[in-house]
Amino acid sequence: MAIRVVVIDVYNTLVGAPDRTPYYEQVFVDLGVPRERIYPAVRDLIMCRQTDSLEQAGQIFLEHFSVDRAGHPQAIRKYMAESRRWSDTVVWLPGARELLYWLKYHTACWGVLMTNISSGGLESLNRRLNLESTAHRCWASCRQGRVKRPEDPECWQEIEGWYPGVAPNEFAMIGDKADDDLEVPKALGWQTFLAQPDGSSIPALRQYLAERVR
Ligand SMILES: [Mg+2]
Repeated sequence: MAIRVVVIDVYNTLVGAPDRTPYYEQVFVDLGVPRERIYPAVRDLIMCRQTDSLEQAGQIFLEHFSVDRAGHPQAIRKYMAESRRWSDTVVWLPGARELLYWLKYHTACWGVLMTNISSGGLESLNRRLNLESTAHRCWASCRQGRVKRPEDPECWQEIEGWYPGVAPNEFAMIGDKADDDLEVPKALGWQTFLAQPDGSSIPALRQYLAERVR
């Protein structure tokens, strides 16, 4: 079946940082927060809503982690600096931008970016990499009010709703996480492609799409 809509995860599928662990994590680890508690908090507190600023995000974390108030101002400044420093290291994986432009301008296929991301992260990728101009649409968790994960099939159903008349098996989902990215779309009957987080499968992805899109 030909693919009419390609939905592509962003982090570690199209863009990545040489250092995969965000620098700001260390700020909270130094305050005694167990490292494994940090990503779930980022996902559930920050990525599923619009935050006005990094400062506000820092405040939300410190309250969530019950960090002693006396240390807040300094911790927030450090968090903001480390967040910015990490955002500035995110770059296109080799061949990713070219693949998106090919999809957008040389095929009849719709391209959709789908990402769990904070407002600040999205702003940074748009400013530095013109992220959203590379696809027809973008599903960003901070705007949609939910994060993509196996427990929330509504995320993908929402995108299906954007394209009435396109059958489930004419959608394809591309992502580097078999669970968070691919489990639900596979169950909905979409075609799926597991990407390598270092970008090494981008040539194979281009080949895969070239054989299936018009
Ligand atoms: Mg990813």
